[in-house]
Amino acid sequence: MSSSSGAALIAQALQELGVKVIFGLVGIPVVQIAEEAIALGIRFIAFRNEQAASYAATAYGYLTGKPGVCLVVGGPGVLHAWAGIGNASANAFPLLLLAGSSETHLVTKGAFQEMDAITLLSPHTKISIRSTIDSIPESLTNAYKTAWYGRGGPTFVDLPADVIQGDGEKTMAYAVPEPPKAASDPEKIRVVAQLLKSAKAPLVIVGKGAAYAQAESVIRKLIDETRIPFLPTPMGKGVLPDSHASNIASARSTALKGADVVLILGARLNWILHFGDEPKWNSAVEICQVDISAEELGKNNGDASLGIVGDIKVVTSQLLNELEGWQYDTSSDFVRALKASEKKNVAKAAKSAKVDSTPMTYERTFDVIRETIDAISPVEDGGVVYVSEGANTMDKSRSAFNVEHPRLRLDAGTYATMGVGLGYAIAAHCAYNLPSPEAASGPESSRKKVVCLEGDSAFGFSLAEVETMARYGMDILIFVINNGGVYHGDSEDSDAWLEMQRNTIEGKSKGALRSSSLGWEVGYENIAKMCGGKGYLVRTPEELAKATEEGFKANVPVVVNVIIQAGQAQKLEFAWQNNSKKAKKDS
Ligand code: ADP
Repeated sequence: MSSSSGAALIAQALQELGVKVIFGLVGIPVVQIAEEAIALGIRFIAFRNEQAASYAATAYGYLTGKPGVCLVVGGPGVLHAWAGIGNASANAFPLLLLAGSSETHLVTKGAFQEMDAITLLSPHTKISIRSTIDSIPESLTNAYKTAWYGRGGPTFVDLPADVIQGDGEKTMAYAVPEPPKAASDPEKIRVVAQLLKSAKAPLVIVGKGAAYAQAESVIRKLIDETRIPFLPTPMGKGVLPDSHASNIASARSTALKGADVVLILGARLNWILHFGDEPKWNSAVEICQVDISAEELGKNNGDASLGIVGDIKVVTSQLLNELEGWQYDTSSDFVRALKASEKKNVAKAAKSAKVDSTPMTYERTFDVIRETIDAISPVEDGGVVYVSEGANTMDKSRSAFNVEHPRLRLDAGTYATMGVGLGYAIAAHCAYNLPSPEAASGPESSRKKVVCLEGDSAFGFSLAEVETMARYGMDILIFVINNGGVYHGDSEDSDAWLEMQRNTIEGKSKGALRSSSLGWEVGYENIAKMCGGKGYLVRTPEELAKATEEGFKANVPVVVNVIIQAGQAQKLEFAWQNNSKKAKKDS
């Protein structure tokens, strides 16, 4: 048997595991792994910051249904990429993080970028392994499998410099079959089906777990056959088309408040779903939660008796069999109330989307972008992936843009992680647009344009990644929704802003910039121009429509800097502030 370098063995392992793309940022000695991987035909997408690279790998895992891989240097590189570990863990995305570390014999001597990453990451990963030269195959295979099997999550392999630079032999094939898919106990299926049949106000909630499970066909069948109203979570949008007649997203509050039996497919009862609790939910609701993770069941509403452990695809198909021939009577009071609420909310949104003003409102801005893009790439074709982040930008754009196919909308997710946007956009571009793409969605699963809707604050976290996009020729279209602040800006003109800046420097508490203030009309479009892309500064609907059209058709990254009303956004209200149970406890 001939020997190879550790770097070559690691690259070979990744190739045999089926890894097509690695996201990362290299230095000595992990650069050798990246170069070996590139020589084997694996794409290495080199970022400007490990944080964005790690976020990209988490999104790639979600979109492809297989672990995303991130490679970074030790010490500070791991600290930066730790952000992706937290993001993967919170969102249940499969991520394999690989990092270099100092030579084994130098540990504790103050070696170059020395850090005990295993101790740091063990509590936050499903498994953290330090590989030796002989255990490279087992370490990588085990970590890859562990990230993928069961509930997705992060795993870590620490690769000391002497392992990367040492010599070893290939001792086994590195293959991990698709994760097995568990079915439910048939008795439980009968009980839940019975409950749905007897419900006066049944509801299905479709979460991003259903998107990750790629369960769209069977869930579509369930809804089409039973006609139970459904509600997507923010990233569950598109598993079923937003335009589906049973989608009652526009009557979300009425649905949660009125439903008496709720079937949850791939979502947790966390802050996004108001913990399944009063006052947002009906106090007598019966919740049937389907999840791959048994520990999740009954976690927040306290009752796990109707929980089903199993794979969404398999369990939904079991439920479908059990419900065969039954259909919910949609002339119910519940559906009437949903339709009334939907009508009111849709009319209100349509009205505010057409209100013209300069600077523009969020609603007008999103309406112009949506109309212009739809005219070029009709939404039903599924040719666009939307990435959205920033408090108000994410919140308000969620309902402004319909999504008709699964996994075409990414946002800050369970962790509400701001700064994920540009990494996610690069991941989406790679997942859908590289030759033989690993992700698919929509009628033809063809090339997709990635469109980012970024709050000016969120954009700031990773704006250097525009250069990454430009370097790899990624034609990503980015809108920076610029109101000069976190949540909202302070001022409608530059003189007032300069006055506030002066007050801040002089230490005046009144009339100074707030902790959430950002710069006055920062020229974000220039970052694209700076590295070979295109940039537009727009203030009016006409300018925005023109920039959107040109930007959408461009073959380079484009940043459209949209100046909107500084003071329009309201302070965010958090779900838990309305939680009556908590209020009772506190009083
Ligand atoms: P959302 O953000 O849409 O509310 P969450 O991330 O909170 O969704 O929940 C997704 C859930 O889906 C997780 O609890 C995860 O364990 C579960 N899940 C992921 N894949 C599967 C699968 N194949 N079968 C069943 N449940 C799954």
